Amino acid sequence: MKRIKGRYSDAVTLRRGQDLKVTTETGNQVADMWAFSLNDMTEYMSMEHCRSINSLIHVTAGCSLVSNRRRTMLRVTHDSAEMRHDTLLCPCTSELYEELGAPGHRSCTANLHEALERHGLSCPFTPASLNVFMNVPVAGDGSVTRLPPPCQPGDHVCFTAEMDVVVVLSACPQDITPINGDARTPTDLLVEILDPSDSKAISQ
Ligand SMILES: [Zn+2]
Repeated sequence: MKRIKGRYSDAVTLRRGQDLKVTTETGNQVADMWAFSLNDMTEYMSMEHCRSINSLIHVTAGCSLVSNRRRTMLRVTHDSAEMRHDTLLCPCTSELYEELGAPGHRSCTANLHEALERHGLSCPFTPASLNVFMNVPVAGDGSVTRLPPPCQPGDHVCFTAEMDVVVVLSACPQDITPINGDARTPTDLLVEILDPSDSKAISQ
């Protein structure tokens, strides 16, 4: 098991058929998530294609997570929180924190590129993130609200890889708005990779 400290990030490699389990230890932590083809960094998980293929503006258990070439990269196989994971809002950036009066603040965008660099990879831009555990209800008029995660400690989401991928996870450093809980304190994510023979264990 890998622990990603609150405010920081890491990358993991998943082979086709392996399962990825992402847990919020406190129930209050958003995980910004990206996926790239292991063989071609120009193929990446695309939120616009996910919304199109699932005919859904959020992600729930059963959703297919597809690339910008519309190939399924991952499938959401289990979600203990049974929630709607946000696909709409941007990963936080240094510019956003400047607007909030916190120049130099860590961001999910910087976390993505730092994690890739540590693994000898790079992407010249920032794809939209899947915002796991991020609670952004959309009203009938299209307006969105940013609420704390509706999760319990230990809630987790499981993904099955349908191709070989690199997944980056950022324990979102946002501590100015309550998106990571009313305490506004980023906390750790737990990340596990399980082979198909272990997968029974994670769905319980
Ligand atoms: Zn963030």
